[in-house]
Amino acid sequence: MNSKTLVLKIGKNNFEDTISRAAHILKQGGTVAFPTETVYGLGADALNPDAVRKIFEAKGRPADNPLIVHIASMDSLDKIATDISPIAFELMDAFWPGPLTLVLKRKDVVPDITTGGLDTVAVRMPDNPVALALIREAGTPLAAPSANTSGRPSPTTAGHVISDLSGRIDAVIDGGAVEVGVESTVLDVTSDVPVILRPGGVGVEEIRKHVGEVVIGYTDQAVGEGEVVRSPGMKYTHYSPKTKVVLVEGDGRAVAAKMSELIESYSEKNMRVGLLITDETAGHVSADEMYSLGKRDVPEDAARNLFAGLRYLDGRDVNINVIIVDGSVKCDGVGVAVLNRLRKAANELIEA
Ligand code: AMP
Ligand code: MG
Repeated sequence: MNSKTLVLKIGKNNFEDTISRAAHILKQGGTVAFPTETVYGLGADALNPDAVRKIFEAKGRPADNPLIVHIASMDSLDKIATDISPIAFELMDAFWPGPLTLVLKRKDVVPDITTGGLDTVAVRMPDNPVALALIREAGTPLAAPSANTSGRPSPTTAGHVISDLSGRIDAVIDGGAVEVGVESTVLDVTSDVPVILRPGGVGVEEIRKHVGEVVIGYTDQAVGEGEVVRSPGMKYTHYSPKTKVVLVEGDGRAVAAKMSELIESYSEKNMRVGLLITDETAGHVSADEMYSLGKRDVPEDAARNLFAGLRYLDGRDVNINVIIVDGSVKCDGVGVAVLNRLRKAANELIEA
């Protein structure tokens, strides 16, 4: 495996050079992590099975969990997908480039390893100038799951990528912190009524405006062994720190009261407590370490802070024994994805 990971800091002065260096690695079948608007992705040539295999190895990702293929133009869509419905085209028009992934019927050029053996392929066009330039320069669609070790919180900075994957990938482009902070919404548009397989950067209501009816096809709970799921990713543990996570949900006042009670009882057991907390609740409680999710009714800020907060509180230096998370974030728009990720990350869920 790769012993050294190149860190390529990108800016106005070296933009083209950096893209061309990174694209060269991808053309040779290598792996490069890069910023998208959602989270950092770990990219490889989606049409080269040997290159894609390196993604699975670096992340420790289960082989049946398919990857999202990232494109920079509509021409490449034609190359990889077929039987695209008018609804799908309307959604592309409305949301691309952006955090909406569409599951489409695949063409044979897309190797089995990329789609987990499915006859469909998940595709999106990211809204980030680095990502778009890289895909263009590589001259091929890029398979790019989140650039974290499988099961860990997703990476929203190049530092997060390095801390998980250093020595396991060829390069990472450091383009600063991402904008959205949670992954794309995954929507299956192969049936008459579209099915949401994962909530994400684009809210359900926004999608409904364009398609009318949509089916919610995901759950926030971990799916048990042997259960049948429409999207293989649903089966696996996700977004989890090593430290125990307790999520407290409910309205603001109840959450603050419950959190205060929990902090006291953990502290009595000599446990060091970390809080991932909204600004409003932070006015009522305190603990050994606190990381802000921002204001309760601004889910966009919670999305941006969520994974960085979980990673910070899980860090060795802060030395926390339990992370208590404030679940009073408004569950609307991208807030639906925030609560979904928190519920999946949590070891214990408490209704206040
Ligand atoms: P990640 O790239 O790690 O954020 O995960 C991509 C998500 O998309 C996973 O939950 C996958 O299971 C899902 N996915 C990718 N391709 C397909 C597909 N062809 N059909 C259904 N779900 C898919
Ligand atoms: Mg992921």
